[in-house]
Amino acid sequence: MCVKAIDIIEKKNKNKTLNYEEIKYIVNSYIKGKINDNTMSDFLWSVYYNGLNDDETYYLTDIMVKSGEVLDLSMIKAPIVDKHSTGGVGDKITLIVSPIVAAAGVCVPKMSGRGLGLTGGTADKLESISGYKLNLPKSTFIEQLKKIGCAVISQSEKMAVADKKIYALRNEIGAVDCIPLIASSIMSKKIASGSDIIIIDLKVGTGAFMKNIKDATALAKCMIKIGKYYNKKVICTLSDMSTPLGLNIGNALEVEEAIDFFNNKYDKRLYDLSIYISALMISSAKNISLEKAKKLAINLVENGYAKSKFYSWIKYQGGNINKLKNKAKKLEVCSNKKGYVNKIDSLKLAKLVFDLGSGRVKKTDKIDYATGVVINKPLGSKVNEGDVLATIYYNKKVEDMDKMILDAFRVDKKKKKNKKIIIKTIK
Ligand code: URA
Repeated sequence: MCVKAIDIIEKKNKNKTLNYEEIKYIVNSYIKGKINDNTMSDFLWSVYYNGLNDDETYYLTDIMVKSGEVLDLSMIKAPIVDKHSTGGVGDKITLIVSPIVAAAGVCVPKMSGRGLGLTGGTADKLESISGYKLNLPKSTFIEQLKKIGCAVISQSEKMAVADKKIYALRNEIGAVDCIPLIASSIMSKKIASGSDIIIIDLKVGTGAFMKNIKDATALAKCMIKIGKYYNKKVICTLSDMSTPLGLNIGNALEVEEAIDFFNNKYDKRLYDLSIYISALMISSAKNISLEKAKKLAINLVENGYAKSKFYSWIKYQGGNINKLKNKAKKLEVCSNKKGYVNKIDSLKLAKLVFDLGSGRVKKTDKIDYATGVVINKPLGSKVNEGDVLATIYYNKKVEDMDKMILDAFRVDKKKKKNKKIIIKTIK
């Protein structure tokens, strides 16, 4: 084992502050294969238990940023804003807000990952559109941003290279839920993506990796502080993920819901969050009030400009929106009692959707784009016995899949007040 690495790990074990060079030594030695997974795991566990202060968190972020390419967006003259979601069940927000914000004259360059775990990522959702190209050369990406105003491509393998290797190891050893490690991991990719304004939709609840508001607030503050080191404006909105977002969960199904949205058929919670995030992006990029930006976002949806931007974007990237990979059989699951839908458990539905084939464990796993669940009775709905609660889209049956739906829905005699979708915004 490398003596210098042991000294650095021991220093962290004693909860002493590491300097830039020490963290750089560990990270770079790991990327170059000079220290192995075991030594890196010791370092990560030491950070997991002892934490990192603000400077150390910035050092780790910066070393990961510099381990790969950094995108130069200086040739784009329009205001630019990036958006990140920490991932949730039924989260198709990127598909909706990118064209709304682009229609407002703000440029949205997005790099999105394929999902690991229970549900697909934005890249998987877009891949359910036949022909959609996720890998574009940098020059084509920039050209599209200039012409259309938004582009969503897959996360470049050349960016934040160290984060990719470290994040994979953290997943393997179970060292994911550590705030400075999560903050530096997310922010290294955002800083490398080149935007000066970053809006983060931080999900909280059963279907998210931040289970409570206290931890989510700490993560938000940590990411905002990292942004300050780079002179980047970072705004975090905490949104509720105890209930799935919108009605459709599953890759092609979520694209269908985005199309419905632009045809004015939407779930209220999805609408509220989409308009709010769009407004935050527009107001911070154009330097106008949130109220004004909100009105603009609503108008762009109502007058069809956002819809036509959505179609232009998909077409420009080679996608045929009329050819979705959505062939699946349907099973409707009916309620066995009368009352009100007071809870729809995100995590339970996500597990079913994963078993149906919509998610993956390893990057190389194949997914079934067509499978998923559509919620027919959203949160707060009145139901009678025999009403369809949800529809399962499947290509191979999952044992007890109907029971899994019944288990995820709680129907009570009395209607409960629903949790608000937007919890708070931290700047
Ligand atoms: N997402 C990331 O990119 N990194 C983490 O550490 C957790 C979530």
